[in-house]
Amino acid sequence: MNNGKHNPGMNGKCTLVGAGPGDPELLTLKALKAIQRATVLFVDDLVSDEIVAFAAPGARIVHVGKRGGCKSTPQAFIEKLMVMAAREGENVVRLKGGDPFIFGRGGEEVEHLRAAGLEVEIVNGITAGLAAVTSLGVPLTHREHAHGVVFVTGHAKPGDAGTDWPALAATAHSARLTLVIYMGVSGAGRIQTELLTGLPAATPVAVIQNASLPTQRHITTTLGALAGAIEAGGLASPSIIVVGDVIASLALAAAHPASVRAA
Ligand code: SAH
Repeated sequence: MNNGKHNPGMNGKCTLVGAGPGDPELLTLKALKAIQRATVLFVDDLVSDEIVAFAAPGARIVHVGKRGGCKSTPQAFIEKLMVMAAREGENVVRLKGGDPFIFGRGGEEVEHLRAAGLEVEIVNGITAGLAAVTSLGVPLTHREHAHGVVFVTGHAKPGDAGTDWPALAATAHSARLTLVIYMGVSGAGRIQTELLTGLPAATPVAVIQNASLPTQRHITTTLGALAGAIEAGGLASPSIIVVGDVIASLALAAAHPASVRAA
Protein backbone atom coordinates (compact mmCIF):
# COMPACT_ATOMS: atom_id res chain seq x y z
CA MET A 1 0.00 0.00 0.00
CA ASN A 2 1.06 3.58 -0.43
CA ASN A 3 2.68 4.96 2.71
CA GLY A 4 2.64 8.50 1.34
CA LYS A 5 6.42 8.50 0.82
CA HIS A 6 8.20 8.48 -2.44
CA ASN A 7 11.86 8.31 -3.34
CA PRO A 8 13.36 11.78 -3.76
CA GLY A 9 16.74 11.69 -5.48
CA MET A 10 15.85 8.47 -7.29
CA ASN A 11 13.90 8.11 -10.49
CA GLY A 12 10.45 6.87 -9.69
CA LYS A 13 8.52 4.57 -11.92
CA CYS A 14 5.80 5.13 -14.50
CA THR A 15 3.02 2.63 -14.96
CA LEU A 16 0.47 2.94 -17.75
CA VAL A 17 -2.66 1.36 -16.38
CA GLY A 18 -5.73 0.31 -18.34
CA ALA A 19 -8.82 1.27 -16.35
CA GLY A 20 -11.18 -0.81 -18.49
CA PRO A 21 -14.42 0.42 -20.05
CA GLY A 22 -15.87 2.04 -16.91
CA ASP A 23 -17.29 -0.58 -14.56
CA PRO A 24 -14.82 -0.74 -11.62
CA GLU A 25 -15.44 -4.48 -11.33
CA LEU A 26 -13.76 -4.92 -14.69
CA LEU A 27 -10.42 -3.62 -13.40
CA THR A 28 -7.65 -6.19 -13.18
CA LEU A 29 -6.12 -6.89 -9.77
CA LYS A 30 -2.82 -5.67 -11.14
CA ALA A 31 -4.42 -2.37 -12.15
CA LEU A 32 -6.03 -1.97 -8.73
CA LYS A 33 -2.72 -2.56 -6.95
CA ALA A 34 -0.89 -0.08 -9.20
CA ILE A 35 -3.58 2.56 -8.55
CA GLN A 36 -3.33 2.00 -4.78
CA ARG A 37 0.48 2.29 -4.85
CA ALA A 38 0.60 5.48 -6.93
CA THR A 39 1.70 8.78 -5.38
CA VAL A 40 0.50 10.72 -8.41
CA LEU A 41 -2.11 9.75 -11.00
CA PHE A 42 -2.64 11.35 -14.40
CA VAL A 43 -6.21 10.48 -15.28
CA ASP A 44 -7.93 10.43 -18.68
CA ASP A 45 -11.45 11.53 -19.36
CA LEU A 46 -13.01 8.14 -19.82
CA VAL A 47 -11.91 6.82 -16.42
CA SER A 48 -14.79 6.66 -13.96
CA ASP A 49 -14.66 8.40 -10.59
CA GLU A 50 -15.19 5.12 -8.72
CA ILE A 51 -11.91 3.88 -10.15
CA VAL A 52 -10.01 7.06 -9.26
CA ALA A 53 -11.43 6.65 -5.73
CA PHE A 54 -9.21 3.55 -5.28
CA ALA A 55 -6.17 5.84 -5.13
CA ALA A 56 -4.48 6.26 -1.74
CA PRO A 57 -5.79 9.19 0.31
CA GLY A 58 -2.54 11.19 -0.02
CA ALA A 59 -2.11 10.64 -3.76
CA ARG A 60 -2.22 13.61 -6.11
CA ILE A 61 -4.84 13.28 -8.85
CA VAL A 62 -4.31 15.20 -12.08
CA HIS A 63 -7.20 15.13 -14.57
CA VAL A 64 -5.83 15.56 -18.05
CA GLY A 65 -9.02 15.04 -20.10
CA LYS A 66 -11.69 17.36 -21.43
CA ARG A 67 -14.06 16.75 -18.56
CA GLY A 68 -15.95 19.79 -17.32
CA GLY A 69 -15.81 21.43 -20.75
CA CYS A 70 -12.12 22.39 -20.44
CA LYS A 71 -9.76 21.76 -23.31
CA SER A 72 -7.85 18.54 -22.92
CA THR A 73 -4.22 18.81 -21.87
CA PRO A 74 -1.89 18.56 -24.89
CA GLN A 75 -0.18 15.19 -25.15
CA ALA A 76 3.35 16.65 -25.04
CA PHE A 77 2.53 18.49 -21.82
CA ILE A 78 1.12 15.36 -20.16
CA GLU A 79 4.30 13.49 -21.07
CA LYS A 80 6.42 16.32 -19.67
CA LEU A 81 4.49 16.30 -16.38
CA MET A 82 4.92 12.53 -16.10
CA VAL A 83 8.68 12.73 -16.68
CA MET A 84 9.02 15.53 -14.12
CA ALA A 85 7.04 13.62 -11.51
CA ALA A 86 8.99 10.40 -12.08
CA ARG A 87 12.29 12.27 -11.84
CA GLU A 88 11.16 13.64 -8.49
CA GLY A 89 10.87 10.03 -7.32
CA GLU A 90 7.09 9.83 -7.52
CA ASN A 91 5.36 6.57 -8.24
CA VAL A 92 3.49 7.73 -11.36
CA VAL A 93 0.38 6.05 -12.71
CA ARG A 94 -1.09 7.07 -16.03
CA LEU A 95 -4.68 5.89 -15.89
CA LYS A 96 -6.24 5.40 -19.30
CA GLY A 97 -9.67 4.15 -20.39
CA GLY A 98 -9.90 0.60 -21.69
CA ASP A 99 -6.50 -0.80 -22.62
CA PRO A 100 -3.59 1.65 -22.73
CA PHE A 101 -2.34 0.23 -26.03
CA ILE A 102 -5.62 0.34 -27.95
CA PHE A 103 -6.08 3.84 -29.42
CA GLY A 104 -5.01 5.47 -26.18
CA ARG A 105 -1.76 6.97 -27.50
CA GLY A 106 -0.06 4.68 -25.00
CA GLY A 107 2.57 3.77 -27.56
CA GLU A 108 3.62 7.40 -27.94
CA GLU A 109 3.79 7.87 -24.18
CA VAL A 110 5.92 4.80 -23.62
CA GLU A 111 8.38 5.87 -26.33
CA HIS A 112 8.67 9.30 -24.77
CA LEU A 113 9.11 8.01 -21.21
CA ARG A 114 11.70 5.43 -22.24
CA ALA A 115 13.57 8.04 -24.27
CA ALA A 116 13.71 10.09 -21.06
CA GLY A 117 15.42 7.12 -19.40
CA LEU A 118 12.50 6.06 -17.23
CA GLU A 119 11.37 2.59 -16.35
CA VAL A 120 7.87 1.97 -17.72
CA GLU A 121 5.44 -0.80 -16.97
CA ILE A 122 2.14 -1.40 -18.75
CA VAL A 123 -0.94 -3.00 -17.22
CA ASN A 124 -3.63 -4.21 -19.62
CA GLY A 125 -7.23 -3.20 -19.31
CA ILE A 126 -10.37 -4.55 -20.94
CA THR A 127 -10.79 -2.55 -24.10
CA ALA A 128 -14.17 -0.91 -24.75
CA GLY A 129 -14.66 -2.77 -28.03
CA LEU A 130 -14.51 -6.09 -26.23
CA ALA A 131 -16.68 -5.06 -23.29
CA ALA A 132 -19.30 -3.41 -25.52
CA VAL A 133 -20.31 -6.53 -27.42
CA THR A 134 -19.86 -8.84 -24.45
CA SER A 135 -22.31 -6.72 -22.46
CA LEU A 136 -24.92 -7.58 -25.09
CA GLY A 137 -24.16 -11.27 -24.81
CA VAL A 138 -22.68 -11.37 -28.30
CA PRO A 139 -19.24 -12.78 -29.19
CA LEU A 140 -16.74 -11.03 -31.47
CA THR A 141 -15.81 -14.29 -33.17
CA HIS A 142 -17.99 -17.27 -33.94
CA ARG A 143 -17.20 -20.36 -35.94
CA GLU A 144 -20.29 -19.81 -38.09
CA HIS A 145 -20.14 -16.04 -38.53
CA ALA A 146 -16.71 -14.48 -38.01
CA HIS A 147 -13.20 -15.82 -38.33
CA GLY A 148 -11.59 -12.80 -36.76
CA VAL A 149 -11.99 -9.26 -35.57
CA VAL A 150 -10.52 -5.89 -36.48
CA PHE A 151 -10.27 -3.03 -34.00
CA VAL A 152 -10.21 0.13 -36.10
CA THR A 153 -10.44 3.85 -35.44
CA GLY A 154 -13.03 6.04 -37.16
CA HIS A 155 -11.02 9.12 -36.38
CA ALA A 156 -7.64 9.70 -38.02
CA LYS A 157 -4.84 11.92 -36.82
CA PRO A 158 -5.15 15.39 -38.41
CA GLY A 159 -3.45 15.36 -41.80
CA ASP A 160 -3.57 11.56 -42.04
CA ALA A 161 -5.75 10.01 -44.78
CA GLY A 162 -7.12 7.59 -42.18
CA THR A 163 -8.63 4.17 -42.63
CA ASP A 164 -9.11 2.81 -46.16
CA TRP A 165 -12.73 1.78 -45.53
CA PRO A 166 -13.41 0.29 -48.99
CA ALA A 167 -10.35 -1.99 -48.65
CA LEU A 168 -11.37 -2.93 -45.13
CA ALA A 169 -14.96 -3.66 -46.22
CA ALA A 170 -13.77 -5.94 -49.02
CA THR A 171 -11.46 -7.82 -46.65
CA ALA A 172 -14.07 -8.06 -43.91
CA HIS A 173 -16.51 -9.50 -46.44
CA SER A 174 -14.19 -12.07 -47.98
CA ALA A 175 -12.36 -13.05 -44.79
CA ARG A 176 -15.50 -12.87 -42.61
CA LEU A 177 -14.25 -10.43 -40.02
CA THR A 178 -16.14 -8.47 -37.37
CA LEU A 179 -15.34 -4.74 -37.46
CA VAL A 180 -15.15 -2.95 -34.12
CA ILE A 181 -15.01 0.78 -34.77
CA TYR A 182 -13.83 3.18 -32.08
CA MET A 183 -14.46 6.94 -32.30
CA GLY A 184 -16.79 6.38 -35.24
CA VAL A 185 -20.02 8.08 -34.25
CA SER A 186 -19.32 11.57 -35.59
CA GLY A 187 -18.05 10.18 -38.90
CA ALA A 188 -20.70 7.46 -39.19
CA GLY A 189 -22.16 8.82 -42.45
CA ARG A 190 -18.85 8.61 -44.28
CA ILE A 191 -17.92 5.27 -42.75
CA GLN A 192 -21.30 3.85 -43.78
CA THR A 193 -20.97 5.06 -47.39
CA GLU A 194 -17.44 3.74 -47.76
CA LEU A 195 -18.11 0.38 -46.08
CA LEU A 196 -21.10 -0.13 -48.38
CA THR A 197 -18.69 -0.40 -51.32
CA GLY A 198 -17.67 -3.84 -50.04
CA LEU A 199 -20.28 -5.03 -47.54
CA PRO A 200 -24.03 -5.70 -48.08
CA ALA A 201 -26.48 -3.04 -46.86
CA ALA A 202 -28.16 -5.74 -44.78
CA THR A 203 -25.01 -6.39 -42.70
CA PRO A 204 -26.10 -6.18 -39.04
CA VAL A 205 -24.66 -3.40 -36.88
CA ALA A 206 -24.82 -2.57 -33.18
CA VAL A 207 -23.86 0.76 -31.64
CA ILE A 208 -23.17 0.70 -27.91
CA GLN A 209 -22.74 3.86 -25.85
CA ASN A 210 -21.20 3.96 -22.35
CA ALA A 211 -20.50 0.23 -22.36
CA SER A 212 -20.37 -1.38 -18.89
CA LEU A 213 -21.69 1.74 -17.14
CA PRO A 214 -25.17 2.18 -15.62
CA THR A 215 -25.86 4.66 -18.45
CA GLN A 216 -25.17 2.05 -21.15
CA ARG A 217 -27.54 2.01 -24.12
CA HIS A 218 -27.44 0.49 -27.57
CA ILE A 219 -29.20 0.22 -30.91
CA THR A 220 -29.16 -2.50 -33.51
CA THR A 221 -29.50 -1.61 -37.16
CA THR A 222 -28.02 -2.44 -40.56
CA LEU A 223 -25.09 -0.94 -42.40
CA GLY A 224 -27.48 0.61 -44.93
CA ALA A 225 -29.33 2.48 -42.18
CA LEU A 226 -26.44 3.20 -39.80
CA ALA A 227 -26.09 6.99 -39.77
CA GLY A 228 -29.86 7.59 -39.64
CA ALA A 229 -30.25 5.08 -36.79
CA ILE A 230 -27.48 6.75 -34.75
CA GLU A 231 -29.16 10.10 -35.22
CA ALA A 232 -32.64 8.79 -34.46
CA GLY A 233 -31.34 7.00 -31.37
CA GLY A 234 -29.41 10.06 -30.20
CA LEU A 235 -26.25 8.03 -29.61
CA ALA A 236 -23.09 9.99 -28.94
CA SER A 237 -19.48 9.52 -27.89
CA PRO A 238 -18.19 7.35 -26.27
CA SER A 239 -19.68 4.64 -28.46
CA ILE A 240 -18.47 1.53 -30.22
CA ILE A 241 -19.85 0.52 -33.61
CA VAL A 242 -19.79 -3.22 -34.31
CA VAL A 243 -20.35 -4.39 -37.88
CA GLY A 244 -20.76 -8.02 -38.83
CA ASP A 245 -22.84 -11.16 -38.81
CA VAL A 246 -22.12 -11.88 -35.12
CA ILE A 247 -24.70 -9.14 -34.45
CA ALA A 248 -27.39 -11.03 -36.39
CA SER A 249 -28.77 -12.89 -33.36
CA LEU A 250 -29.13 -9.62 -31.50
CA ALA A 251 -30.80 -7.86 -34.42
CA LEU A 252 -33.23 -10.77 -34.63
CA ALA A 253 -34.01 -10.55 -30.94
CA ALA A 254 -34.56 -6.80 -31.26
CA ALA A 255 -37.08 -7.44 -34.02
CA HIS A 256 -38.99 -9.70 -31.59
CA PRO A 257 -38.72 -7.75 -28.35
CA ALA A 258 -40.78 -10.27 -26.38
CA SER A 259 -37.77 -12.56 -26.44
CA VAL A 260 -35.20 -10.00 -25.22
CA ARG A 261 -34.35 -8.98 -21.73
CA ALA A 262 -33.82 -5.20 -21.41
CA ALA A 263 -30.07 -4.50 -21.57
N1 SAH B 1 -8.00 2.84 -24.91
C1 SAH B 1 -9.45 2.84 -25.03
C2 SAH B 1 -9.93 3.54 -26.28
C3 SAH B 1 -9.62 5.03 -26.31
S1 SAH B 1 -10.23 5.81 -27.72
C4 SAH B 1 -9.95 1.39 -24.96
O1 SAH B 1 -9.15 0.46 -25.04
O2 SAH B 1 -11.16 1.19 -24.80
C5 SAH B 1 -11.80 6.41 -27.14
C6 SAH B 1 -12.93 5.65 -27.78
O3 SAH B 1 -13.10 4.40 -27.14
C7 SAH B 1 -14.28 6.32 -27.67
O4 SAH B 1 -14.46 7.31 -28.67
C8 SAH B 1 -15.20 5.16 -27.90
O5 SAH B 1 -15.24 4.78 -29.26
C9 SAH B 1 -14.47 4.05 -27.15
N2 SAH B 1 -14.93 3.90 -25.76
C10 SAH B 1 -14.22 4.08 -24.65
N3 SAH B 1 -14.96 3.76 -23.55
C11 SAH B 1 -16.16 3.39 -24.00
C12 SAH B 1 -17.35 2.92 -23.40
N4 SAH B 1 -17.47 2.77 -22.06
N5 SAH B 1 -18.41 2.60 -24.19
C13 SAH B 1 -18.33 2.70 -25.53
N6 SAH B 1 -17.24 3.14 -26.16
C14 SAH B 1 -16.17 3.47 -25.42
